[in-house]
Amino acid sequence: MNALEARFSSIKSSIVASTLAAKRLPDSVTLIAVSKQQPALAIEALTALGQHDFAENYVQEALAKQAKLAHTPMAGKIVWHFIGPIQSNKTRAIAANFSWVHSVDRPKIAERLSEQRPDNLPPLKIFIEVNIDNESTKAGVSPAELPAMVALCQRLPRIELVGLMVIPARGSPDAFTRTAQLNAHLPSALPLLSMGMSGDFPAAIAAGSTHVRIGTALFGVRQMTAES
Ligand SMILES: *Cc1c(COP(=O)(O)O)cnc(C)c1O
Repeated sequence: MNALEARFSSIKSSIVASTLAAKRLPDSVTLIAVSKQQPALAIEALTALGQHDFAENYVQEALAKQAKLAHTPMAGKIVWHFIGPIQSNKTRAIAANFSWVHSVDRPKIAERLSEQRPDNLPPLKIFIEVNIDNESTKAGVSPAELPAMVALCQRLPRIELVGLMVIPARGSPDAFTRTAQLNAHLPSALPLLSMGMSGDFPAAIAAGSTHVRIGTALFGVRQMTAES
């Protein structure tokens, strides 16, 4: 077993252990491999082990890897998630080249993604990013603004609002539970929660996460450049 295979198998086991500890079904949590600043070859190696969901933070870097992988046998099976900050001028490329977007943090971005989602593709699945700890340096809708943002997203025809995404502040151990409660108190709770990274995914799963976004613990330390 090589190092990537060993880390992949160890993370899969910890996810299963965390779900069982929380009295949840093992397949109620999806592992998303965060491949930012990792080469296309590493993605290809993981697809060969059965991993299908990959997330990227930078549009140009993601498109370059998608092009490199287009001719590999598993290309059609890869599901691409966008998890990075979104500038307005990048929404068209995101709407056309990803299936899921986790970092929708303001009305204008939701509106543009809906307008620009190509007609031949199913609606784009989106999470609203919530600034759960009200940090001034962090993106996301504040808990107070969330109900209005949910209502807006649910009116837009070419996106499908599936859940909430958070990146908690350091030392904010109950942020995942607060996010789950925030969701439960919406007029109608959303089905999915994108919470948990390499350092904190067991706690996120305990609080109800359905999608964990794991980079370093899977691929090892990120390479310095965004080149693939
Ligand atoms: C980089 C990143 C991750 C993965 O972080 P790791 O600590 O490497 O697992 C998850 N979510 C977002 C939004 C990220 O930017």
